[in-house]
Amino acid sequence: MRVGTVKEIKNHEYRVGLTPESVRELVSHGHEVWVESGAGLGIGAEDAAYSAAGASIKPDAKTVFDGCEMIVKVKEPQAGERAMLREGQILYTYLHLAPDPEQTADLVKSGVTAIAYETVTGPGGTLPLLKPMSQVAGRMSIQAGATALQKAHGGRGVLLGGVPGVLPGKVLVIGGGVVGFHAAQMAVGMGADVTILDRDPEVLERLDNHFEGRAKTRFSNLAVVQQMVQEAELVIGAVLVPGAAAPKLVTREMLKTMKPGAVLVDVAIDQGGCFETSHATTHADPTYVVDGIVHYCVANMPGAVARTSTYALNNVTLPHALRIADLGWQAALKANPHLANGLNVHAGKVTYEAVATELGYAY
Ligand code: NAD
Repeated sequence: MRVGTVKEIKNHEYRVGLTPESVRELVSHGHEVWVESGAGLGIGAEDAAYSAAGASIKPDAKTVFDGCEMIVKVKEPQAGERAMLREGQILYTYLHLAPDPEQTADLVKSGVTAIAYETVTGPGGTLPLLKPMSQVAGRMSIQAGATALQKAHGGRGVLLGGVPGVLPGKVLVIGGGVVGFHAAQMAVGMGADVTILDRDPEVLERLDNHFEGRAKTRFSNLAVVQQMVQEAELVIGAVLVPGAAAPKLVTREMLKTMKPGAVLVDVAIDQGGCFETSHATTHADPTYVVDGIVHYCVANMPGAVARTSTYALNNVTLPHALRIADLGWQAALKANPHLANGLNVHAGKVTYEAVATELGYAY
């Protein structure tokens, strides 16, 4: 199969669909790979690295879209890209169609076969193609929070790990799923005093067993959140209630009880945020202050570490890309029901029930 990848054109998106190493794998399976010139520059991968891996470098996106049977990307196709899709072509990327009627209509019209990373499942109903981005955001949240705690960034002037003779900073992680676990790991590694809140007893038990006292766990309820935020230097919002907006767990009233210069990092901002005073920010201007409390609410945290994020993403997307290229999409989806759950649009129809229901398409 001829597989292509293009330079991402969404604002401030530096990741790329295929790394040179992934290209090499596809080529070693007998496939041809076309890469738009400059596609990998955001992760420091020059055209020469792609050529060395066996790719053909093409001057523009149109050549790649026109010539390839499958396009592998990161973000949903933008309007100009959607105009280049055609019937029978495979698009393999993040799509997030439910809140995006315009994109859905264009994909339906194009006749493309669109497989969305975010709905490909794994054992036990997990979403393995979303997980690495939560891992990145969780680990990064402590880095972002530690920076915001510095005086020059408006913070309290606290070093999370402390020093000999001075107590470490207190980190409160609300939500102990993928983001929360990885945030706690980083905070523990820095030597901070870490507490994780969750409402799921199994999650609490797993975390307790894993950290063996290096991080404390507590059941999350209103009283506990209210008490713990008063003591914390850094609060990480990492909750997720599937299919719902994030619950507002830290209210504006609570901010007044917090230590001046404490920091809130709301990783759940892409679901509306779990602090009442959160609003989405960008990497260009990531923080703002409300009632003396620094807020960091960047909705696409993994974008800042595009190289790590691209490699983490390719680790989970490449095996399916190889399957699709080796077998053809129909046989690949038939052989793997988890991959089949990724099919969102095919031949002019929405094929994913939740998207069809949300946007009023026949299913
Ligand atoms: P997850 O499902 O693995 O974990 C969420 C956890 O929240 C679960 O353990 C759940 O029990 C817990 N929870 C639910 N309600 C709670 C409450 N009231 N108190 C305490 N805990 C509660 O989800 P995840 O992958 O860790 O993602 C967390 C959030 O981070 C999601 O909103 C996700 O979209 C977001 N995210 C944001 C970025 C970004 O760049 N900002 C990147 C990746 C993920």
